[in-house]
Amino acid sequence: MAQHAEYIDRMKDASVLETAARLGLEVVVKNGNQSSGSFPCPLCGAKTRHGEKGRGARGACGINHIDTGWNCFQCKARGDALGLVSAALFQKASIKSLRRDQQDEVRAWVQGDRAIDIPKRDASIPKPEPKYPSKSDVQKFLSACTRIELDDEVVSWMHANKIDPVMADARGWASALPASSGHHWAREGRRVIVPMRDVAGDTVSLKARGLVPGSKSHSPKTYSVSKLCFWDPSVSSPSRVIFVEGEKKFMQMSTLYPTARVIGIMNGSVTDEYAKLIPPHAEVWVLTDWNQAGADYATAIYNNALRAHDISKIRLRKGFVANKERRGYRIDLAQEP
Ligand SMILES: [Zn+2]
Repeated sequence: MAQHAEYIDRMKDASVLETAARLGLEVVVKNGNQSSGSFPCPLCGAKTRHGEKGRGARGACGINHIDTGWNCFQCKARGDALGLVSAALFQKASIKSLRRDQQDEVRAWVQGDRAIDIPKRDASIPKPEPKYPSKSDVQKFLSACTRIELDDEVVSWMHANKIDPVMADARGWASALPASSGHHWAREGRRVIVPMRDVAGDTVSLKARGLVPGSKSHSPKTYSVSKLCFWDPSVSSPSRVIFVEGEKKFMQMSTLYPTARVIGIMNGSVTDEYAKLIPPHAEVWVLTDWNQAGADYATAIYNNALRAHDISKIRLRKGFVANKERRGYRIDLAQEP
């Protein structure tokens, strides 16, 4: 298991173009510029991205500038080098969505005699660090917000969503952006402001949640929210850790389980640093949504945050166990809380 985990980590850094070439896909690189590299899609079979013809037409799949990720312009599939191998061998974009025996076959392909070693991306190109808003900008914005209890509209949104506004104020889960503030978020009705924290508990960015059902929540534009999540550092030595998706479920579940450490995640939240948020012997509930994204989140939580822990007490959302595709991270039969 540990060997698999290490292997998957290494493949996250592997060169996608080199992997594509080894898979026998026709790689096109323009003017020697690696980052322009492209290849046909092993999933949907599209050869070029917009149906271009002729020599030198760009392939359906492009890569990111550090050559560790790919995406298909036709079918929108995406992934890393391992995902590309899994796509070529089993027509699934993610190795996580394969059965265990298929996952083993993908690993054998990369490690076996069809490949000499794991293709490494060009290490001279650094991985970009996420860019966050400045601390003073975040503080300035938060100081223009009010306590929830002073804003009837936000209070009734919380009541309607089974969130305790008194606890939200007392424990700093959220604040209210006044309708009169003139900020474009206020004009758009995104007035529930939820701090996004790093694993140390510091507020690094924000999420602005809309009051109207179905409206999307926003973070400061042009900044990253990767590695950040919603959690309450005032909960100390919890015996239960609950992973959920997003800011609303973070507050709902925190209302239901005020002594638990509830962690609201988003795409790109969970790194191996999240293991620090799980005390030894804590019971862990992974209650991500019952869909493909939820399954991917649960896998990320398992691979990053839980791997180092005694996972005998983990619970997954009921329903995950029923799906054969997702047996890879089935640990125990889960019950809804
Ligand atoms: Zn495709």
